[in-house]
Amino acid sequence: MSGSALFETFARAPLAFERGEGSWLITENGERYLDFAGGIAVNALGHGHPHLVKALTEQAAKLWHVSNLYEIPDQNRLAERLAEHSFADRVFFTNSGAEALECAIKTARRYHYKNGHPERYRVITFEGAFHGRTLATIAAGGQAKYLEGFGPKVDGFDQVAFDDIDAAEKLIGPETAAILLEPVQGEGGIRPFPTASLKRLRQLCDKHGLLLIFDEVQCGIGRTGKLYGYEWSGVSPDLMAIAKGIGGGFPLAACLATEAAASAMTPGVHGTTFGGNPLAMAVGNAVLDVVLEEGFLEEVSRKALLLKQGLAAIADEFPDVISEIRGTGLMLGVKCTMPNTKVNMALRDQKLLAVPAGENVLRLLPPLTTTDADIQEALKRIRAGAASLSKAAANGG
Ligand SMILES: *Cc1c(COP(=O)(O)O)cnc(C)c1O
Repeated sequence: MSGSALFETFARAPLAFERGEGSWLITENGERYLDFAGGIAVNALGHGHPHLVKALTEQAAKLWHVSNLYEIPDQNRLAERLAEHSFADRVFFTNSGAEALECAIKTARRYHYKNGHPERYRVITFEGAFHGRTLATIAAGGQAKYLEGFGPKVDGFDQVAFDDIDAAEKLIGPETAAILLEPVQGEGGIRPFPTASLKRLRQLCDKHGLLLIFDEVQCGIGRTGKLYGYEWSGVSPDLMAIAKGIGGGFPLAACLATEAAASAMTPGVHGTTFGGNPLAMAVGNAVLDVVLEEGFLEEVSRKALLLKQGLAAIADEFPDVISEIRGTGLMLGVKCTMPNTKVNMALRDQKLLAVPAGENVLRLLPPLTTTDADIQEALKRIRAGAASLSKAAANGG
């Protein structure tokens, strides 16, 4: 047994941080790490953002929790703002991405139930997906490594290969309720669905009366340079899960829906104790204050280009370490030629944090508020990390 009383579910890096400042994390001994993992796309505004700190501490002095038995004015306000800036009309707040997905899946099933089709409950998903770790969301994600040992897979999820829209079309049957996907797969290795595929999926959903569900838990809230990843395609879903960035580090997530999709979610059919509590709402509104500021998203795109171009140059220089740079906005994937875990360690040695993903990709998810100077520093460290691994460099090339 290790010295810890925790479940051993996480293979943690031997690092403990005491505080954070913007794109930086600082250990107890004062060592500074450049945080381009961003708490896995959670710290959208970096660490210690003054507007978020103020919102949370002011709310903490007033009221923490009342339950959803009462009106929570800031919940209405955040829902209205999320609706105003998206396809949605209705919002249900949860604490985690998986719960937001659970809500989306339940809402889709209930929609068909209410419309006289209780037999329509199956959801089509795509390989490489990640939708969370609850029993239903591991079934939706379909990854064997997350399903193993947890009993029968929750029924109602059918999976096709990534971006295989023909296969998805063939799978649509009398029991199909919805199609679920991440417009940009995160854990799957920063894989965007082509716009043409999203358009075809929208058409298929319309033709067969299915609901289109987007999981923007990772790619939403400005990560790709637009408020939502789906905006790049112009294809709107009927339901969408968001989480990670919207809380800026406070546990907050939401299921967004059109009026029609949410119409069967009537009093008593779904609920949550913590979801939408005043602390979370104060922070969520504060995150939106910043992300919706004039010019904020344009800045994300501008900085992202700087980072992507710099990474492309490093990939050109060290093809035996990095084979490709992919992704949009500040959701970038470094496809590695050698094991991504090895590259991740080399970057950590340079005191730069990244996150491994599928397809042997290393994810870079810096705060959306990262600066040009931070990006230059990150590129310097990534180049040094790549050089330390490269044969070309070792041979004095
Ligand atoms: C992280 C993530 C989830 C799960 O969110 P949790 O808050 O860990 O439950 C779901 N979908 C995607 C795309 C994610 O990146």
